[in-house]
Amino acid sequence: MISFTSFLSNHAVVQTLQRAASPAGRLSHAYLLHGTKGLGKRTLARIFAAGLLCGADERPCGQCNSCHKVEKESHPDLMVLRRQADKSIITVEQIRTMREQAWLRPNESERRVILLEGADQMNPAAVGALLKILEEPPSYLVFILTADNMDAMPDTIASRCVCLELSEVPRLQAEKWLVRQFPDEDAILIDRALLCGGGNLGRCIAFLKGEREAASFELALTVMKSLTTGREFDIMTALSPLEGDREGFLQLLTDLDQLAGQIARAGFILPESSEIAHLAAGISPARAIRIHQLGDGLRRRLILNGNLSLLLGTCCAGLRQIMEQPV
Ligand SMILES: [Zn+2]
Repeated sequence: MISFTSFLSNHAVVQTLQRAASPAGRLSHAYLLHGTKGLGKRTLARIFAAGLLCGADERPCGQCNSCHKVEKESHPDLMVLRRQADKSIITVEQIRTMREQAWLRPNESERRVILLEGADQMNPAAVGALLKILEEPPSYLVFILTADNMDAMPDTIASRCVCLELSEVPRLQAEKWLVRQFPDEDAILIDRALLCGGGNLGRCIAFLKGEREAASFELALTVMKSLTTGREFDIMTALSPLEGDREGFLQLLTDLDQLAGQIARAGFILPESSEIAHLAAGISPARAIRIHQLGDGLRRRLILNGNLSLLLGTCCAGLRQIMEQPV
């Protein structure tokens, strides 16, 4: 059932949205939910949209017709906009169509809600078209935007929104939730999912449901282990399955980043996993931070279509250098 109480952790953000959706709440005309992929932006945006369109005292009630329609994305006063599967960005045509609909008065509710998923994936033309309506929206209109990457979010848009950042769920809470959601899952696999995703539930779920995610994470573990031996050959061997696989390399960088974060933290708090403790014995926090920085640079170049073989080579050489240089 769709409700604010079902959303884990992130109390301040949830409270802000809950108040805004309440009958007496003060509402802004645009909200931007941001944070890494997997933190639940999409889920929370839907709960908020349902709250804005529901007519009950407790909003969203999760039981009325309006709430059900939001869940099914069939509410006439809700418009959901996202990148089309065959496009790399939200197009200006999509924004223009949305704008025409935005001027129609609400049908069943007091408001009209436009949910724009991946607002960080727009080109300047689409941003310009969106700004036109974001600057002077009709009084009944509320925008809910989501973005993984605030660096790619134009200031002109963000500055017109109430910006709310989502964070990871505390590990213990994440563990309890996963056990409840996956009652038949092997405890070892749940542990593994937590090692992969930490408090990012989306990543934990992807690990448990997707073979590709699980395989990629095991590869990241192998790469990290190869660093502790310090032999370039081992690093090269560990990276070799990624030759020709750009998506796989991007995923590996995300996984390495997650592991590097856990290793760096192991420098000052006792790690929950023996695997991390083992890695942290061979990789110091300072080196873990450099691995994160290396990954960050490589990710940017990969997204900008950098040469894959060259970047894999840079990754290998960079990792070796990090392990060889004194810290
Ligand atoms: Zn309702």
